[in-house]
This record gives sequence, C-alpha cells and structure tokens, in this order.
Amino acid sequence: MTKDKDLLASVGDVSVDSEFFSPLPPGYKKGKARYVFVMGTVMSGLGKGIFSSCLAKLMQDKGLKVAPIKLEGYLNIDSGTLNPFRHGEVFVLDDGMETDMDLGTYERMLDQNLSKANFCTSGQIFNDVLNKERHGDYLGRDVQMIPHVTGEVKLRLRSLAAKTDADIIFVEIGGTVGDLENAYYIEAMRELAYEEGPNSCCFVALTYILEPPTLGEQKSKAAQLGIKQLMQLGVQPDIIACRATHSVTEKARQKISVYSNVPVERVVSLPDSTSIYTIPAMLREASLDFQVLRLLKIEDRINLRNERKAWAKWCDFTDKIDSIAREITIGVTGKYTAVRDSYASIINALEHAGIALGCRAEIKWIDTTGINDSNVVGHLAGVDGIIVPGGFGTRGAEGKIACIKFARENNLPYLGLCFGFQMAVIEFARNVCGIEKANSTEIQADCPDAVIDILPEQKKIEGLGGNMRLGGKDIELKPETLAWKLFAEADSVRMRFRHRYEVDPRYIEQLEKAGLIFSGKAPNQPIMQILEIASHPFFMATQAHPCLTSRPLRPAPMFAGLVAAAMQKRYPNEKLPDCIEAAAG
Ligand code: GLN
Repeated sequence: MTKDKDLLASVGDVSVDSEFFSPLPPGYKKGKARYVFVMGTVMSGLGKGIFSSCLAKLMQDKGLKVAPIKLEGYLNIDSGTLNPFRHGEVFVLDDGMETDMDLGTYERMLDQNLSKANFCTSGQIFNDVLNKERHGDYLGRDVQMIPHVTGEVKLRLRSLAAKTDADIIFVEIGGTVGDLENAYYIEAMRELAYEEGPNSCCFVALTYILEPPTLGEQKSKAAQLGIKQLMQLGVQPDIIACRATHSVTEKARQKISVYSNVPVERVVSLPDSTSIYTIPAMLREASLDFQVLRLLKIEDRINLRNERKAWAKWCDFTDKIDSIAREITIGVTGKYTAVRDSYASIINALEHAGIALGCRAEIKWIDTTGINDSNVVGHLAGVDGIIVPGGFGTRGAEGKIACIKFARENNLPYLGLCFGFQMAVIEFARNVCGIEKANSTEIQADCPDAVIDILPEQKKIEGLGGNMRLGGKDIELKPETLAWKLFAEADSVRMRFRHRYEVDPRYIEQLEKAGLIFSGKAPNQPIMQILEIASHPFFMATQAHPCLTSRPLRPAPMFAGLVAAAMQKRYPNEKLPDCIEAAAG
C-alpha cells in the first residue's frame, strides 16, 4: 500500500501493472481546493442546486473562491436536445454550452458567469473515455468503470480546481442516491475523498422528511433508508439537510442522527421557503457555513470584513422582498405553460426587476393555441404587459402574433424574447408594412415573404443540436434609441443567444421605413438583435435571451423597463420611475 502522501503521485500512473488510474491535470495543487459534494436521497426535486448554490454563496461572501459543477447522469452530451417540458429550461452559458437549469441558479446566486467546465454529463464522460480508448491511451488495459470511468470524473473535478484556483468546488450530483446512472459518480467522489485525504471533502446528503396529512406528524424512515443506501456505497455523510414542508422536529433530527453517525447539530432543518433568496439566511442560522469551514479546515482562509459587507448588501436586497407594496400582472405566452421550470429564467428576471422596483410581478400564463384577433382582448384582460418568450415550431404562433398586434395597437407594454422578436417582426410586416403573407420559414416552409428565415451560416451545418447560433454575443446599440438609454448609453452590450432563424436583411429597409427601429444589431453583420417602436410606451423585442443574465442585484434592463412600463399602466396616477430610470436602478 502506498503511503498517504505518495498516493496522489501514484494514482497518476497509467500502467498495466497498476490498479490505480486517476490522472491529474497540469497545475493541480493538492490541498488548495476542497470539495463539497451535494447529493439527494429519497426523491428528486429537493432543490440540490438551490441548496448548493446558497451554500456556495455564503462561502463566496467570506472571500473564498468557489466553483460549482453539476454532474448529470444522462447520456446526452449537453441539454440542447432536451425537451424543456420534461427537463426544465435549457440554460445557455456565455461560451455557448447548453446546460441544465441549475447552472442558472448558480450564476444568479453567485453573480458569476460559468462555462462548459462547470457542466458535465455521463455522455461527455463516456465520450472522453471512448476517445481515449481509440487513441490507445489506456496502454493495453481493459477499460473499466473503476478505475477508468471514475478516473475521468475525478479528472473533471480536479481540472475545474486547477483552472479556477478555487478554494471550494461545489459538486452537485444529479438524480437520487440509488439510481443506476449516478452510482459511478458517487463512487468517484468516494475515491476522490480517499485520494485527497482527511478534511479535503465534505459530503452533504439532502433528504426529505415526510409529513402525511393523515398522520399529522413527521416521519423520518424514508430519509433514514436513503442515508443507509448512501452509506452502503461507502460514503459517510458529514451533513444531512432535511427538506420538509415545515421545520423538522428535534425528534426527527435525533432519529436521523442516531441512524447515520452524523452529530445532531449537523442534521439541519430546511423547510419550504417562499423565496429562494431567503435560503442563504436559513443556512446561516443553522451555522452550516461554519460547519463546512470546520470540516474542511479552511477557517484561516476567510475574510470577515468581506463577509460583513457582502451580507449587508444581500440583506438590503432580501429586505426589499418583504416591503413590496405594488402588484402588476404580466401575461407570458408559451407552449410549455404547464411546466414553470421551462421558463425559470424569465420568472427569475421578472422577480429581480420587480424586487428592485418594489412590485410583485404576477405571471398569467397564456396558452395561445386558440387565440385570434377576435378573442385576444378577452385573453389579455387584466394584464399590464406581455412577454412572448422563446419558442420553436408552429403551434400557437398565430395566437402570439395576435397578442403582439393587440399590444402594439393598444399601448400595452411588450417584451419579445427570441421567438417573440421574430413574431413581432412578422406582425409588423403584415399589419403595418402590408406584407400580408409575411411569415417565418420555421412556421411555413414555402412562405412567399419570409421576413424571418434560417441564418445563411446555419444552413451549411447539418444535424439537430449542432446548428444553432449559441452563446454570448455583442450587440451594437443605436444611439438615442430606447435600448441605448436602457443600457446606460453604452455602445454595445453582451447577451446570450440560441436561435436558428433571423430577420432576412432584404426586408430591413422596408420595415424601418414603416417605423420599426432596429436599435441593436450584430457588429459587422446584418443580424438584427433588438427592435423597438418609438411611439409606444414600451414595445421592445430582442433576438437574445436577456433573462439568462439577469441577476438578483442587477436586474436585466429590458425586464426593468417592462416592469416599469407595466407599473405606469397599472398605477397611472402615481409618480413612478419611467423605463429608463428603472433600468438605471
Ligand atoms: N425557433 C426560433 C429560432 O430557432 C427561436 C428560437 C428561440 O426562441 N430560442 O430561431
């Protein structure tokens, strides 16, 4: 057996004679990064991502450098081909990676842009392993789940550590303990903790305490069995976070403690909360931040001054949530109206803008499949503004166009996002420019006036999942326009994109002559990216997804503009900030 201090050196060996296979990335400094593993037992949907991002935020506040990573069990290489109805929204990172919605939670909570290094799927892991096998990298060995596949997982985590120089890597394991598809991730964590040595890793098990209404008391058995399953995999949790509808009783916590070898002060209660932004305070009250620091022995790395400042700022923000006095209703049209997760970023962006302006933005979900010009007024009754969000395909498209027409003609504040931008162009072309047959080739392949058409550069690329214009791109702003004013008169702004279609440049002149202003476009390319109408209180649309970069303390200016315009409509007799003042914060 290798001595502990030599273990890391030996695990890097690739040799037919060695059972170790755990390559180390260049520049990896053992001991610099510590690891917090977050996994769920009993059931999925416990909010592992929320928990992990809130804990990471508390560590970041202390001046520590944190880097999150989500390990997904599925075999897809990315989330690009996943149906948001099944899996929640596809969250696009600045580098164009299409990821799980949890990455959005991390970006928002940490106010940090992430990259593809922060997102890993089983598909990526196996792809890398098979490529290495074909390349002859395993030197005659039979390639096995252990050590090769688990070795690849550890390499990912250590590469992230080396790349970011983080103090703590937060590793969220998708799925539930006991799933076949994440079992090798848990095994890799166990190996990593063994290789890195004592105090290098902290295992957090999220679990769920049942409270059947017929019994009226909390039951911890399912949680105990879930933890037992984790321990059978060779992992001793250090912290158990108990999710529940109400505060978890002392008795239930004691039961879990006795059963799991985890001291009762590290079995914490995490009841449901109305806003995710109050969860960091809940974790602090349970002293989870200091428990983790102690377990990882990095108390000496923290900066308390930094923490005081960051926490005061955060509390100012959460205090505003409690003092919201006004309310507006925003209609959001969409195909996936049954699943809120598919619009997570829009919901968050509205919340951020609302909190900043002291206003709760209620969302009215509008299924547009049956909407037309004659019944639209009834469907939009009571809304103070509308959003037509991103979308694909034909279903409900005509209904969206009817909503946009109504908004344009009736001074109803409008924000169009991606597909909502394209639908606004079609509506304007048809009803203002008189191009009656205007449409998108996505909706009508043979349409005679395709004002929206597939991007020329995308036409060349074949195959689903590979032909979108993806990721962060700069948008050049046109001076003196509303967009330019909303973005503090900047020359350009950066936003994230995910689309295949765009405005056909041949129609731009005609549209502009009729009063449509293209206030944002791609630098050096005729790709239209923001539009607005000057005579309207707020009519704006963008080919981008500004919701993806809205942050709690820095709301997306377009959302602030929409909420401000909707407030002015709802409270016409009050002196409220206009769109530009609202966007300035
Ligand atoms: N379907 C449209 C396109 O591909 C819009 C995409 C979207 O809304 N994300 O361009």
